[in-house]
Amino acid sequence: MSGLEDLYREIILDHYRSPRNRGELETPPAKRAEGFNPLCGDEIVVYVDIDDNDVVQDIKIGGQGCSISQSSASMMSAAVKGKTLDEVRDITTSFKHMMSIHETGLEGEAEEEVSFDDDVGDLEALRGVVKFPVRIKCATLSWHTLLEAIEQDADASA
Ligand code: ZN
Repeated sequence: MSGLEDLYREIILDHYRSPRNRGELETPPAKRAEGFNPLCGDEIVVYVDIDDNDVVQDIKIGGQGCSISQSSASMMSAAVKGKTLDEVRDITTSFKHMMSIHETGLEGEAEEEVSFDDDVGDLEALRGVVKFPVRIKCATLSWHTLLEAIEQDADASA
């Protein structure tokens, strides 16, 4: 298993050192939401541009924080770009489920495997974070922020 953990660590460090989709988008048309994790001091700003067909045309990430929060945001941005909002919600649900299994400490559910399609497979690198409960909020911060951004009323961002 240590080989797999090394691979996961490499993926996380790669996203931390070379974050995908860093930057800003013009609002509107893009939606914007901010997230903050007071436990660790992580900040995430999500800009997301959704077209008339409910497809994520573009996404940009701002903010700062620990390696887990920033690499998770980078992976999240790469995973949802080009996806429909329904697909984004599915991926988010799977990710949060993966992160909550050990948080709840339910033995029965711990056996339940969450898997991702190959094109979002990097997300599995964060599976190891569930061993460190204080870091789970670091990993899920960007996803909560993304949901907040995409559920925003179109009028609210005007
Ligand atoms: Zn953190």
